[in-house]
Amino acid sequence: MFNDKETFKQVFREDLIGKLGKPLEEASNADVYNILGNMIRENAGRHWADTNQKYKADKDKQVYYFSMEFLIGRLLGNNLLNMGVLEVVREGLADLGFSLADIEEEEADAGLGNGGLGRLAACFLDSLASLQYAGHGCGIRYKYGLFEQKIVDGYQVELPDYWLQKDNVWEVRREDKQVEVRFWGHVETRAENGELVFEHKDYEAVRAVPYDIPIIGADRRHVNTLRNWSAESITQSTRTFGTFAGTDYHKFLEYKRSVESISEFLYPDDSEYEGKLLRLKQQYFLCSAGLQSILRTFGKLGLPYESLPDKVALHINDTHPTLVIPELMRILMDEHGMGWNKAWDITTRMVSYTNHTILSEALERWPLQMVRELMPRIFLIIEEINARFCGELMSRYPGDQPRIEQMAIIHDDQVRMAHLAIVASHSVNGVAALHTEILQKREMRLFNEMYPHRFNNKTNGITHRRWLMHANPELAGLINDSIGTRWIHHPQEMIGLIKYCEDASFQEQVAAIKRRNKLRLAEYISSKHGVQVDPDSIFDVQVKRLHAYKRQLLNILHILHLYNQIKDNPSMDMVPRTFIFGAKAAPSYHLAKRIIKLINTVADVVNNDPDVKGKIRIFFLENYSVSLAEKIIPAADVSEQISTASKEASGTGNMKFMMNGALTLGTMDGANVEMHEMVGDNNMFLFGLRAEQVLDYYQYGGYHARDIYAGDSRVREVLDQLVNPGPICCHSQEFDTIFQTLLDNNDEFFVLKDFASYVETHVEIDRAYRNQKEWLKKSIINIGHSGKFSSDNTISRYASEIWKIHPIRL
Ligand SMILES: *Cc1c(COP(=O)(O)O)cnc(C)c1O
Repeated sequence: MFNDKETFKQVFREDLIGKLGKPLEEASNADVYNILGNMIRENAGRHWADTNQKYKADKDKQVYYFSMEFLIGRLLGNNLLNMGVLEVVREGLADLGFSLADIEEEEADAGLGNGGLGRLAACFLDSLASLQYAGHGCGIRYKYGLFEQKIVDGYQVELPDYWLQKDNVWEVRREDKQVEVRFWGHVETRAENGELVFEHKDYEAVRAVPYDIPIIGADRRHVNTLRNWSAESITQSTRTFGTFAGTDYHKFLEYKRSVESISEFLYPDDSEYEGKLLRLKQQYFLCSAGLQSILRTFGKLGLPYESLPDKVALHINDTHPTLVIPELMRILMDEHGMGWNKAWDITTRMVSYTNHTILSEALERWPLQMVRELMPRIFLIIEEINARFCGELMSRYPGDQPRIEQMAIIHDDQVRMAHLAIVASHSVNGVAALHTEILQKREMRLFNEMYPHRFNNKTNGITHRRWLMHANPELAGLINDSIGTRWIHHPQEMIGLIKYCEDASFQEQVAAIKRRNKLRLAEYISSKHGVQVDPDSIFDVQVKRLHAYKRQLLNILHILHLYNQIKDNPSMDMVPRTFIFGAKAAPSYHLAKRIIKLINTVADVVNNDPDVKGKIRIFFLENYSVSLAEKIIPAADVSEQISTASKEASGTGNMKFMMNGALTLGTMDGANVEMHEMVGDNNMFLFGLRAEQVLDYYQYGGYHARDIYAGDSRVREVLDQLVNPGPICCHSQEFDTIFQTLLDNNDEFFVLKDFASYVETHVEIDRAYRNQKEWLKKSIINIGHSGKFSSDNTISRYASEIWKIHPIRL
């Protein structure tokens, strides 16, 4: 590798000539990106091979993290950072006349995820490799990632995200590791030597080809694998055509198209259950391909299958990969001749499950008929698991039919994936203390009663390497200068910053860094919107998926109220605010799209009203993604985490902001509760209903949104503006739906109920910001405590408490 700038420059020039036949002077940014990316991957290649060699030689236990989403974003910057050559490359490129920041912009943002759940998987991979654990990702190589969002006339427009148009320098196609996945057909059952034998006949075979991406740990030597599967047609033999059993060309084309569609698109639905056959196909494709390849690797160790649970842990990220359970049972029984009890024991000792949501519309249920037709053998196994489980329930709770119905895996001709996942896992974890408590005491109470030791909490985390060191290098540098560099390996040592919270010179440096980050973001916004942004205003940010429970609506209604106040009193005394939004709405989520339009409409009115005189400005930044998040979050003063209490399982955006010194304006929800536990009332701005109150309202009623509309003139004014002719509602009824969900449908997410408390808390923020010394003190206290939310911390707890693995020294 190159450890100094001069060597780097020399190697780089040679590569450019050798690979592109171009002298430096003719190289474009895209050329530089490609050469550099390939150079880094090739360099990592040696460590990659060594790491795998070591795992194999020592027969170390491997963890496989199954996830339908890996929202990894760009890799170049983070790989340079983890390989310890970021500065060498930055300076070397500068000497050659290139800016590393511009080169990084050449990389497609790998958007193979919707939001928090997919980003968590990506942070976990980084921590696994950096902490030297043998842990890998299992995913799908979608040809199209999450759609690209454009805002046209204030409306969201979705464009396909064909991220592979640019060469992906990080992936390696491994044709030699392909496996076959089988759909449709039927199962023949017969007895052989007194044993039942199941044979899957007339199936349609799909070729699963893996593309491997090296996951480079922070010690540069430890390189794990993210294996993404691509679905391809089988062309070699007609036998595998299954049902068409012939060479009919049209049938072949039909088959080819249907196969390739399996890994074509990521479903752009966040937390809403997507009931599509193709989605179920994607899930089984991932589970079957992933497992076959894992078991093949295990098979090469020459160990008995009884030792599988000591050598392999399978983790499922939400219920989407739950089919690993029946698929593992199938392979153990049908391919390795194991009996049910033994296969079940092995399976349950290998699988662990993370629950991500209690939203009932997000709990996966598949029609039994669809499961039976698409995966006939898997269907039989699920049926048998259900029959045995119900048998156990009957002997434990004789006569308690309601309980059995509530807990059954198959009910109402549907398979409840969460129940299957709980019954067949040795560990079920929630993602924040409050969320786990709600799971145990309410949503999954009966399961918790039956399996009291199975449930546990693992609060989510974020990798401080991407979200602090890479996104905010100046702040990371300041931390190094003040407490040394040990925090990089032990992020909880960031707590050492607390002693500088009142130090004037430290505060000034924190403020100066924040201001430069704000200037950079202001420049980005100006380049997109053609409007100047005041870097001395409070940057008040809400960026996350658009969802009713996340309550972007509360935010924009409050802004409209602020605007009304300014119109009434143009000389109103307030610290100028820049409100920044970023959010994608699922394409079929009508209400969410209307909220985007409302934000843009209010922005248009407010930003162009001379009476406002720059007191408030509103920007909706299109196409929120990992790379955009890295630009926005270091520049934020206020972090909006305002979900209806009990609804946001954890949140991870909240942690990214905290780590970058923003102060949280939030509800007592998800991990906000744990942030509050650490920093206290003084260093956070909390408002609104508590989870207990929300859940009680759902259970017992007693909330009437109309009473608030009738009793609070501020609420009445803003809601009427949505539907009465005026600047917000010019000539159509496009905000009627919003008005109706709040009043006719009684405001499911308590937007109006929390409105007054939210308004008050904003006033408090205005007051607090005026005292910069106090504000900076709070900011530093937040940064200091944020190390607890490093995913390194989260992953070491998964490792020791769920997976039972240890770091592997290379
Ligand atoms: C962190 C992150 C999220 C999750 O944000 P929440 O505020 O926790 O919902 C979503 N999308 C992207 C691109 C992220 O980086």
